[in-house]
Amino acid sequence: MRILIVEDEKSLADIVKKGLEEEGYAVDVAYNGEDGLFMAENEASDLILLDIMLPVIDGMTILKRIRKAGVRTPVLMLTAKDTVMDKVSGLDSGADDYLTKPFSFDELLARIRALIRRGSEVKSSIIEIGDLVIDTASHEVKRGGRLISLSAREYALLEYMAINSDKVLTRTSLTEHIYDQDFDLDSNVIDVFINRVRNKIDRDFSRRLIHTIRGAGYMLKR
Ligand code: CA
Repeated sequence: MRILIVEDEKSLADIVKKGLEEEGYAVDVAYNGEDGLFMAENEASDLILLDIMLPVIDGMTILKRIRKAGVRTPVLMLTAKDTVMDKVSGLDSGADDYLTKPFSFDELLARIRALIRRGSEVKSSIIEIGDLVIDTASHEVKRGGRLISLSAREYALLEYMAINSDKVLTRTSLTEHIYDQDFDLDSNVIDVFINRVRNKIDRDFSRRLIHTIRGAGYMLKR
């Protein structure tokens, strides 16, 4: 899952980026509204953390513009101003949720997970596909009751495929949602990761979950 942070307080943006990366998210950062607007419209983000008070273009204007342009990415507004008016105008302008600064990192993580789930069939923090169980809060993965150890990037790939199960995912879309924009898009890397995840979750089981769709990409089948 890939998250765009639009926040001009550099120390806050950087600490949130670092924390989210430790959780396995790919993270892009825009430190002003102009870059934020451009990236919100052009990067394959799964969620946008949007500050309201920003230089060049403010967060509310960004929100209105991207919604008008048809960008449906969930937006979590970050605001220092805890006034009812701000919350109402943010939600009216197409924000999905808001968080008042200062916020706890655990609360931020819980809200991010909830917003990412909202757009999918997955309705709890536990994703179950057959005997595969993924706990998106603790990142614990089990198959047939057996604990499976995955690296942060392998976990990110599996979680993205599970949230988008039964959909064909191209190498490009997998790469875009697992790496940030600083990553040089080489789709062969995805094949390597798919094989590693396959070895861990499919190899010892008769029913395979990860399928190669010839000429298209990959699918995790329910
Ligand atoms: Ca700000």
